[in-house]
Amino acid sequence: MSQTATPARTRYVVMKFGGTSVAARKRWDNIATLVRARREEGLRVVIVVSALSGVTNALQSLVDAAQRGEDLADAAAALARRHEAFVGELGLASAPLITEWLSRFAHLVAAPRDGGRDLSWQAEMLALGELFSSSLGAHFLAEQGLDAEWLDAREFLRAEPVANASPWARWLSVNCRCRPDPAVQAALARRSPVLITQGFIAADDDGRTVILGRGGSDTSASYFGALVQAERVEIWTDVAGMFSANPRQVPAARLLKRLDYEEAQEIATTGAKVLHPRCLSPVRDAGVPLLVKDTNRPDLAGTVIAARDAAAGSPDSVKAISARTGIVLVSMETVGMYQQVGFLAEVFDVFRRHGLSVDLIGSAETNVTVSL
Ligand code: ASP
Ligand code: MG
Repeated sequence: MSQTATPARTRYVVMKFGGTSVAARKRWDNIATLVRARREEGLRVVIVVSALSGVTNALQSLVDAAQRGEDLADAAAALARRHEAFVGELGLASAPLITEWLSRFAHLVAAPRDGGRDLSWQAEMLALGELFSSSLGAHFLAEQGLDAEWLDAREFLRAEPVANASPWARWLSVNCRCRPDPAVQAALARRSPVLITQGFIAADDDGRTVILGRGGSDTSASYFGALVQAERVEIWTDVAGMFSANPRQVPAARLLKRLDYEEAQEIATTGAKVLHPRCLSPVRDAGVPLLVKDTNRPDLAGTVIAARDAAAGSPDSVKAISARTGIVLVSMETVGMYQQVGFLAEVFDVFRRHGLSVDLIGSAETNVTVSL
C-alpha cells in the first residue's frame, strides 16, 4: 500500500536582534550572513528587530518632555538625523519606508494629543523606533540580494483584552494572542521567504497601535514563533547566553547550555536581563525551542531552552543563583496567626489597597515576611 504524502509544513525560524545588534553596519552584514545560512537550511525566516540602541529611551524622553510642555523640535530633529545618517551608513541610495515614518514622526511630534498624556499617542510615538529599524533592515537586506520583505507586525500580533487591565496596560503593556494559527502560517507563506518585522508593537482589535512593554521585542519573537510553529526562535543578543550567576558579579559563572522552560522562566523573572520575562510562556505552550545566541560570536552554542528531555534523565539540580537589589522587605511579627482564619487574606488586602505587588513570601508560625 502506498502512503499518502502529507504536504510538508512550511518550516520557519524566527530570529530576533536587539538594539545593539542592529545599530551598526557591520552588525547588519552579520545578520545578512546568518539569514543566508538559515535559507540554506531550507527555512523561511522571520526577523524581529528592536529599535536602534537608545532610540526607545529617546522616544520616551520626548513623550516625557511633551507632558512637561517642552518644545520637542531639537530632540526630534536629532533622532530623525540619526536614522537618516544610518541610511547612508548602510550604503542605501534611498529608503522610501524611512521617509514615510519620518513624516509620521514629524506629524506626531507637532501635535502631542492631550499634552502628551494620551496613551494612544504615546504608543504611536514609542512604536516608531521599531518601524524605523525594521524598514532600514528591509531595504538593506533586499539590497544584499536577499528575497526580503518588510512586514507590519500589527497585521499579525493582536492584543488580547485582559479583564480589569489598567488603561496604561491596555496601551503600553499588552499581551497578544499566540496560539499556533494556520491562517497566519498561510498568510506568511504567500509573502517573501525572508520577512523582517518589528518587535515591541502590536495592534488592538480596532487596529490601533499598542506596545508590549519595555524590552518586549523578545516576546514579539516568541509570539511569532508560536503563531507559525517555528522550528526554533533565536534571540540574538550581546551576551553568550544565560549564566549560572551574573558574570559581572561572579567571574566564575558558567554558561547554561540547556534549560527547560520553567527553569529559564525563573531565571528571567528573578534577575537575568537576558530575556523579557513574558517571552517564555508562548514558546513553551507551542513547544517551540528558544535559543539565546551571541551576535558577536555566532559560533558559540549559546543557551537552548526547550522542554525537559525525560529520556535524557538529567538530574534535578540548582541551575542558577540570581540576586536582586532595591528590594523592600516587610516583616510582620504576630502571635495572632495561630489557628486563625483569614489572617493572610487581611494582610494582603492592605497591600492590594495600596496597589503594591508582593513578590516573594516567607512564613513561619509567628512571622510573615514579604518582599516588594
Ligand atoms: N525597543 C524596546 C525597548 O527598548 C523593545 C525592545 O528592545 O525589546 O524597550
Ligand atoms: Mg532585551
